[in-house]
Amino acid sequence: MKISIKSLVSPNIRNLRAYNAKEIPCRVKLDANESPYGFEINNKILKSIKTNRYPDPEAKTLKKIISKNLWLNPKNILFGNGSDELIYYLITVFGGPVLYPVPTFSMYGIIAQALGEKRIEVPLDNDFDLDIEKILSTIKKSKPKLIFLSSPNNPTGNCFSSDRILKIIGASKSIVIVDEAYQPFSSEKGFLPMLSDYKNLIILRTLSKIGFAGLRVGFMIAGREIINEVNKVRLPFNLNSISQAVAATLIKNTNTIKLHIGLITSERERLLNELWKIQGIKPYPSEANFILFKVKNSDKIYYRFLKKGVLVRNMKGVVNGCLRATVGTKKENNIFIKALKEVMK
Ligand code: PMP
Repeated sequence: MKISIKSLVSPNIRNLRAYNAKEIPCRVKLDANESPYGFEINNKILKSIKTNRYPDPEAKTLKKIISKNLWLNPKNILFGNGSDELIYYLITVFGGPVLYPVPTFSMYGIIAQALGEKRIEVPLDNDFDLDIEKILSTIKKSKPKLIFLSSPNNPTGNCFSSDRILKIIGASKSIVIVDEAYQPFSSEKGFLPMLSDYKNLIILRTLSKIGFAGLRVGFMIAGREIINEVNKVRLPFNLNSISQAVAATLIKNTNTIKLHIGLITSERERLLNELWKIQGIKPYPSEANFILFKVKNSDKIYYRFLKKGVLVRNMKGVVNGCLRATVGTKKENNIFIKALKEVMK
């Protein structure tokens, strides 16, 4: 009997393309907005883990540490296996239409599509800021249930004007998610202080960009009512024991984490200065741990980079003509700049 698997797949998944997270061998990896600085896990942490027992379903120890660091009530925090998982949960709970500006982080659209929800994409303005008029009129017309705003935005690197974000939160009856994955690298304070003012505001954070991408720990901060609703769909043991134990121990290295962030932001500024000096390149200012830059022939430059062992992200189809490079260590950045000067010749 001939079985067509494709015809069994639900129509909204059939045409979906998987998130592109290929492992491409390289000497300098600057494609995934990870931190170049990792932490060592000592044996004492590993020995504390009981492999035969399920993890703490609430990740209480980690929650206590993070809530203390951010001056929050632990009851306002919910963990995800990376913030990606929380995006999944949020769209599952609230449904669509899901509105987001473009270009932005691709998972908002991918997950909305996977869950069969309507997507509304509103282009950013020429400065990569929110087109407030267009967004407000679209909210009025299409009544989205969820609005995702990544600030700093991936891949453009800028923060959206906070007055525009506040206008959107204030004007809509939707849930507004301010995704602050890159907030630690930003000169802006972020939206945590606004939480108590707006019932419909959710903030997304992650440990992935500050040295712990391998642990898959993201969290959302919101009012108790929202947390309780999202908790209904959360898989019971979504944060495994190793991630909980390692994160709870290593996140206490606040000084080292701050030092790494400082190194990354100062290297980002050095890289931007260097990029400005190279003819044929237009770099965009960044409040994140990566830089978006425009080149004449991005495909060609991307492959020339790869030949030299430098992996960046080709933003083809997202911001045409642009590449995105994560800020690495000083040594990695020097290799990147040297390679860039050579490939631009
Ligand atoms: N939000 C934004 C804006 C991102 O760029 C990323 C990572 N690329 C995430 C969320 C997801 O982060 P994680 O799942 O690793 O927590």
